[in-house]
Amino acid sequence: MNVFRQYSLLTLNTLAIESTAEYFVQPESEIDIQECLQFAKSNNLPIKVLGGGSNVVMSDQVSGLVLQFSGSACDVLHETEESVSLKVEAGYSWHEFVMFCLSQNWFGLENLAYIPGNVGAAPVQNIGAYGVEVKERITAVNGVYLDSGQVFSFTADECDFAYRESRFKQALNGKVLITSVEFRLSKAPQVQVSYAPLNKMAEEKGMPTPGELAQWVIQVRQSKLPDPKTLPNAGSFFKNPVVTEAEFKSLIERFPKMPGYPQSNGVKLAAGWLIDQLGFKGRAFGPVAVHELQALVLVNRGGAGEDVLSAARQVRQAVLECYGVDLEQEPRLFS
Ligand code: FAD
Ligand code: NAP
Repeated sequence: MNVFRQYSLLTLNTLAIESTAEYFVQPESEIDIQECLQFAKSNNLPIKVLGGGSNVVMSDQVSGLVLQFSGSACDVLHETEESVSLKVEAGYSWHEFVMFCLSQNWFGLENLAYIPGNVGAAPVQNIGAYGVEVKERITAVNGVYLDSGQVFSFTADECDFAYRESRFKQALNGKVLITSVEFRLSKAPQVQVSYAPLNKMAEEKGMPTPGELAQWVIQVRQSKLPDPKTLPNAGSFFKNPVVTEAEFKSLIERFPKMPGYPQSNGVKLAAGWLIDQLGFKGRAFGPVAVHELQALVLVNRGGAGEDVLSAARQVRQAVLECYGVDLEQEPRLFS
């Protein structure tokens, strides 16, 4: 296992920010991981865990040891006529995992097709798309504490999953490495079609099979989201805010067309709509711009660094001034 010094992270983050890690290592196994923890301890280095780099804003210099676990085994733990239980190592590409499951006729992840990143990060922000959150399919999350090297295994209930949230983003932020995730998937084909673009396709073509649904999701995403390979970005830059019913009532009086989606704890607003209405689509802030088709996405037009954060601050401020709603940034600063 090689430990690299002054290692470029340019190709390891989808915003394509020029960044250098003080040290960088890619362990492949749990034994390698323990060796890395030992190396960090003896050299007094903080450890920063990186997955596919699709939900981070890189600092130009990242201090300490950047650790990217590359183990990608996928094992069947248990199988019945109805379902299959899997243990998947953190380094497996998320989208490839979704497509592998479909090829085996294991269902339940179709709506989450084409999300960049690795399996290990999926529980961190409880990834979600088109009405499905990964917490619905996760049974356990396994990992190691970075300070002690002790291993843990949490049931899904112990992960404190919420809307784009989990224990790993809160109390355990920066303290653990997730090494594998356990899922239970269905063998019975079932599809969830509840978002407008998918409803429209179902009206035209009839209800899809799970494989078709994954293809529809890929098609819709390709039509409106920039491909990080050609236009670097970190997906949605802000979480959709949830406001109280009373706040929503007062907002809708001022903005009758504002979409709102009822939740158990209030009403979810579409952050992209709030930004779009302020005329930000396509607006440039130096090397950063708000994407022309999707106002929630900030793109790096070339050479952006932490300018992304100042562009985000301006968007956030404008939203706060107009609607009184404070947006929360989704990608984390990786420094
Ligand atoms: P990274 O960006 O590398 O890391 C994200 C955070 O998780 C960091 O804090 C990191 O330290 C931590 N982390 C990563 N791996 C581990 C690990 N093994 N153990 C402990 N901590 C870890 N997200 C959605 O929810 N839904 C979407 O539909 C969606 N669409 C996207 C579309 C595009 C074009 C892009 C660029 C992003 C999108 N995202 C979406 C955001 C992103 O893809 C997900 O959050 C993804 O899970 C991040 O995975 P990653 O491996 O790239 O994590
Ligand atoms: P969209 O379909 O244009 O919808 C805009 C927003 O309205 C979404 O954020 C979505 O919330 C909400 N919404 C739409 N229909 C809804 C319904 N029937 N019930 C509840 N909420 C509804 O969104 P988009 O930008 O094209 O993204 C499509 C899906 O991919 C969304 O689920 C989005 O979260 C996900 N996505 C996430 C990222 C990321 O980086 N986090 C990036 C790209 C796409 P939700 O976001 O809560 O679903």
